[in-house]
Amino acid sequence: MKQWIIEGIRTGIKTTKYPKKEDTSPGISPGRPVLTEASKIDPSICPTSAIRKKGKKTEIDYSRCIHCYRCKDDRGGKLSWEMSYEWAYFTKKGQGPLKSSFQSSIHILVVDTGSCGACLSEVELLNNPYYNMHRLGFFVTPSPRKADILMVVGPVTHHMELALKKAFDAMPTPKRVMAVGTCAISGGIFTPSFITASSVSEIIPVDLEVPGDPPPPLAILYGLLILSGKMKPKRQ
Ligand code: SF4
Repeated sequence: MKQWIIEGIRTGIKTTKYPKKEDTSPGISPGRPVLTEASKIDPSICPTSAIRKKGKKTEIDYSRCIHCYRCKDDRGGKLSWEMSYEWAYFTKKGQGPLKSSFQSSIHILVVDTGSCGACLSEVELLNNPYYNMHRLGFFVTPSPRKADILMVVGPVTHHMELALKKAFDAMPTPKRVMAVGTCAISGGIFTPSFITASSVSEIIPVDLEVPGDPPPPLAILYGLLILSGKMKPKRQ
């Protein structure tokens, strides 16, 4: 214990300054592809059909991108890369930001509906000293009765459908649902399949989606900040 206190005093505070200050530390985000007008890419390079033609235009569906890097310019593809993490967006059918009287104490119920563990481990990192989501008033709860936000990771396996519905129904209002990761948003590489639904929104209403496979902790934190109304969305 004494040793850790001395180490802490010696190294100082290492917690990220985000959201007060942008975090540009190396490895903080895997980044994602961006299309420019000059981008000429063959959509067949993409294993999940995230890159597709719409008329004469090409577009990227981030809800299907698995960050495989095949389209990246220095990996044989042709697309440049943006290193941001503020990707989360409100869904069209969702309720928008949470209006809670207890903004400094937002409780999150995390439900894994059949993930490979990647998104879940990024969520776990939010509790470590570097991201430390408690400083922003976010806490994980095991009880749906105490939860304000339902965070779902993984494609929804049929075995988890009823459990997910029950967890959602048990939450008091106001409540919000966020789907974290490509599999939760679109089923990712697991759909179509005989064991999963194609997204969380097929089972319960989703208010916010955080693309990424897996999304880095700061992308999830940004999602929490805008969903809880603590921060205004930077893009829609
Ligand atoms: S990173 Fe991979 S999955 Fe994402 S758009 Fe590029 S090729 Fe498709």
